[in-house]
Amino acid sequence: MIIGITGQIGSGKSTAARLLKQMGAVVIDADQIGREVVEQNPALLKGLVKRFGDEILTPKGKLDRKKLAALAFRNNDTRDMLNRLVHPYLLKELNRQMKSLAKRHRLVVIDAALLLYWNLDQVVDKVILIHASQKIRLRRLAERGIGRKDALARQRQQLSYTEQRKRADHVIFNNGTPQELKLKLQKVIAKSVD
Ligand code: ADP
Repeated sequence: MIIGITGQIGSGKSTAARLLKQMGAVVIDADQIGREVVEQNPALLKGLVKRFGDEILTPKGKLDRKKLAALAFRNNDTRDMLNRLVHPYLLKELNRQMKSLAKRHRLVVIDAALLLYWNLDQVVDKVILIHASQKIRLRRLAERGIGRKDALARQRQQLSYTEQRKRADHVIFNNGTPQELKLKLQKVIAKSVD
């Protein structure tokens, strides 16, 4: 069974993925794969430099991810440009890992903020959307060192909760404690597995 976990920044996706791991799931982190595919495919890095300029490179010629993120997440056009380039590589690698892990593990979880934007709802068995109120998301992010302005800018790059909700199989409200989140996840997983 392959489960996609998504939600807006600060909603608790990664926390949910971590809890699912404690319950025995194997977790694929889509951000991590995004980083790996750029490192492993010189053609992709070249394409990124062509679109975003040499400034996305470190003095040693490696990708400076923070620079790229700053340039790519300026607006929807630059974000789409980044995704058009990275998407084919990322999807191919995600599919490969998903298939290989699903053979050996009962529960495979994909943690991806952009799960629905990438249309991965078409490849996973169930989508779980993690949601928390904006006030709580911003407070949790502030505690993690991400300021309000930054958090709102990143949030604008993601699909809205209303759009995400339409395509999710389960919505989990993560306004309470991590323990409550864990119990809700256990319930949803029990329902999905049978
Ligand atoms: P996302 O992956 O959706 O951006 P995270 O899982 O990283 O969100 O959560 C954002 C921050 O909120 C983290 O610091 C995390 O530890 C904290 N957090 C998540 N869920 C809860 C919760 N139920 N109670 C308290 N803090 C939480």
